[in-house]
Amino acid sequence: MEYALQVKDLSKTFILQKRMNHVLKNISFSIEKGEMVAIMGPSGSGKSTLLYSVSGMDRPTAGDVYLENKKITDLNEKELAQIRLQSMGFIFQQMHMLKNLSIRDNILLPAYEASKNKEMRVQKDQYCQELMKKLDITEIGDNDVTQVSGGQLQRACICRSLMNQPAILFADEPTGALNKSASEEVMKELNKLNHQGITIMLVTHDMKVASKCSRILYIVDGNINGELVFDQFEDTRQTQGEFVEGEVLKLREKRLSQWLNDMGW
Ligand code: ADP
Ligand code: MG
Repeated sequence: MEYALQVKDLSKTFILQKRMNHVLKNISFSIEKGEMVAIMGPSGSGKSTLLYSVSGMDRPTAGDVYLENKKITDLNEKELAQIRLQSMGFIFQQMHMLKNLSIRDNILLPAYEASKNKEMRVQKDQYCQELMKKLDITEIGDNDVTQVSGGQLQRACICRSLMNQPAILFADEPTGALNKSASEEVMKELNKLNHQGITIMLVTHDMKVASKCSRILYIVDGNINGELVFDQFEDTRQTQGEFVEGEVLKLREKRLSQWLNDMGW
């Protein structure tokens, strides 16, 4: 079994005004390469904290995280920043795009940071063009971030997260600020990317989004309380190039809704 991510006995405690808040309590789980895992749970249960702690955006209080078998919890800030830039992609609900740059330059920014010379930058320019075409935002490349729709902006964010060809994508409520059709647009792209082999870990409170993932972890009060894996037979359709839709999606949504009910959602 090849793991994209392994998390062992992870804890995160915040200290505010001398009071300890144990947000993550000894969490362990693994994500295999090629999986698309959704994290669900009540507001304040620690979902975002979990995502930040495993992706090195924040330091866990205790425990270890391995990215493709490499322990990342021991790394210093500089090494960690390098790993984040090279091997991880990030998509957030309110994505921070720079207002004085065009959409294209925003997408290129992390790629340029990771490029050592002019030749590499030329390659990145080309790759950026390809990605923008794939995600159907070529025509808004010169626009300012305020001159595009929510769905377009989120697709630009996806482009940006992919520029350094990450092994894993982390997304915190990637559709949280989008309307139904934009949300579907974005999920279609994420499903496509996952189908092409990128591992995805995302946080969501949207059943429709979670139904399109292969596995769901339910977190309550800093613990993983349950796990739902969608059936293998359903997934064969995906591996044959069909995405989760139609009847399979309806079946999944029904199962998920029952399961969430059992979880106390
Ligand atoms: P969720 O994403 O599930 O809604 P969060 O992970 O954002 O929950 O928050 C879980 C708990 O951690 C909350 O009680 C929140 O107040 C606390 N928390 C999150 N980030 C910080 C921080 N940077 N400093 C102090 N407390 C925090
Ligand atoms: Mg959150």
